[in-house]
Amino acid sequence: MKPAFDLNDLRNWKEAGAGSSPPIRLGVLGDPVAHSLSPAMQNAGLEKSGVDLRYAAFQIAPNDLAEALELFRKLNFIGLNLTVPHKMAALPLVDEVEERARQIGAINTIGFREGKSLGWNTDAPGFGRAIREVFSVDLRDLRVLLLGAAGGAGRAIAWECAWENSERLVLVNRTFEKAQALARELASYFSGPRVLGPEARLEAIRAEAGALRAQLSRIDLVINATTLGLNQSDPLPLARELLAPHLMIYDLIYKETVTPLLAAAAESGARTANGLTMLLHQGALAFELWFNRPAPLAAMRAALSREQDA
Ligand code: NAP
Repeated sequence: MKPAFDLNDLRNWKEAGAGSSPPIRLGVLGDPVAHSLSPAMQNAGLEKSGVDLRYAAFQIAPNDLAEALELFRKLNFIGLNLTVPHKMAALPLVDEVEERARQIGAINTIGFREGKSLGWNTDAPGFGRAIREVFSVDLRDLRVLLLGAAGGAGRAIAWECAWENSERLVLVNRTFEKAQALARELASYFSGPRVLGPEARLEAIRAEAGALRAQLSRIDLVINATTLGLNQSDPLPLARELLAPHLMIYDLIYKETVTPLLAAAAESGARTANGLTMLLHQGALAFELWFNRPAPLAAMRAALSREQDA
């Protein structure tokens, strides 16, 4: 199978897709997308479940998204995943959007049923499942500090913390005004008196050392949902001297097992995990929406580990 198909392939799918047996009826759309681990993970799930279909990557530019979605519908695809930069742009292009995805403002999963396209966001519940798996604790019991809160992934996580009734949520974003705006959206979920001390359950703070330092003694879980760490030359999203042994640190980045943030956090004595578990669980939830059956989690997890080690 090609590392990634493109719009021209879709326009001529009879020829471009003809070589695939079993037939390709699922895929991930992104720009770029060739690096995606989703095809390996989903194809392992399809094989394990005995579903005679395959999942491929599709390189689609932002301006071509609407045409591509229409082609997928006409070609009788079962479903799609969306990655950067399509998650927000795809929302108004589908026929129906699940309420929670609408609140987040982004979809990462599409299903085609009886000629209609339906949009969901599985990043949010996938994140909740990932935290439960790696740290054996529910979001509702945690005081959370979210770096990159107003990005696409950050918004999904912030909403999940709200729906799960996290003890506290501190929103941090490079562009502070976006964190403030998100705090206004979430405010009603944090109005209840569930906190141990007198501090606010929901706050937006500036991404500055002083403001961060003042929070961290009252935080359990720090999440990196910024893009910092994708490039070798990036600074840490949280300064080394702010890391402490009582923290759990979850870095959404999964292209390395140990990101620079996680290496520094482990040195400080903190518990750490990378974003592979979120990738796994958002993918498993998408599989369940497409096929209305449990996803073969072990097979999908093993495929991800193989890809990461490759
Ligand atoms: P996005 O929508 O582009 O958001 C990027 C976020 O990072 C924004 O909050 C942005 O702040 C911040 N940011 C960018 N450059 C920064 C810098 N130099 N300093 C500080 N903050 C900076 O991206 P996304 O789709 O949310 O993805 C974020 C990360 O999560 C990526 O690494 C992605 O690979 C990862 N991810 C992982 C999974 C998973 O399943 N594990 C799922 C989704 C995403 P501003 O608002 O100020 O621009």
